[in-house]
Amino acid sequence: MNIDLHCHSNVSDGALAPAAVAQRAARNGVDVWALTDHDQLAGLAEAREAARAAGMRFVDGVEISVTWRGSTIHVVGLRIDPANAALAGGLARVRGGRLERARRMAQELKDAGIDGAFEGALRHAENPAMVSRTHFARYLAEIGAVPEMKDAFRHYLVPGKPGYVPHQWAALADAVGWICAAGGHAVLAHPGRYGLSGAALDALLAEFRAAGGEAIEVVTGSHSPEQFRHFGAIALQQGFAASRGSDFHGPEEGAEFGTLPPLDPALRAVWRDWAL
Ligand code: AMP
Ligand code: MN
Ligand code: MN
Ligand code: MN
Repeated sequence: MNIDLHCHSNVSDGALAPAAVAQRAARNGVDVWALTDHDQLAGLAEAREAARAAGMRFVDGVEISVTWRGSTIHVVGLRIDPANAALAGGLARVRGGRLERARRMAQELKDAGIDGAFEGALRHAENPAMVSRTHFARYLAEIGAVPEMKDAFRHYLVPGKPGYVPHQWAALADAVGWICAAGGHAVLAHPGRYGLSGAALDALLAEFRAAGGEAIEVVTGSHSPEQFRHFGAIALQQGFAASRGSDFHGPEEGAEFGTLPPLDPALRAVWRDWAL
């Protein structure tokens, strides 16, 4: 079975509406699919219906932004109850402040010689309150300030470069706690993206486990094949389950559905005990 438990719609920073993401996943051979928008549950109803129509099994998901020791970390929640008040209330707080942050990002870009970034980013954001660095990256690529979107995350938008504005997201224990309160399973998203030393990663994993975290994303569009092996070994050694997801954001924007290898069967898949 092709199981893909991480991707985005235009309810957060994806390029396509939830139903279009579902149709794309199904066309690319996904059998079990989760929509995991950043800090938002608003796309789940449309996604669930479209998944059913396309013959896929659907998993309610979310990806929560966390600030841990000054770094931004992402935690995916799977099989969450979208009606849970603790989760919905927590997410509402986390996603506040994006518009104000975007104004400050645009001012920094203007100081670096790039005009119109606030309006430009918002043109790419279906939901202005969820404006993110991805929407700025789309604008920077559109005007030719960078050759491709991914280059925007090298020359701009990252710590030490123009357009990066630090932001306080959720505390790790809160994010994992909301997911658990909503009956879900917490997965540490793309651990290879954080550039943490071995000791820092161990500390993160210890806190994540203590808060109720169950799984590590091993196969993701953000990891190299070497990282599939590395984080698979860490999951085995430390007794975490493993997850898999493309982190699809849009056509021609990095990972695509149906292209990643399966999880190593030696790993305990996060979905192992689910009735699928
Ligand atoms: P924000 O929540 O506004 O800080 O935006 C974070 C989003 O930017 C992530 O969810 C990714 O979609 C995107 N992103 C961050 N770093 C990179 C990167 N190095 N390459 C491509 N996309 C990235
Ligand atoms: Mn994103
Ligand atoms: Mn992420
Ligand atoms: Mn993601």
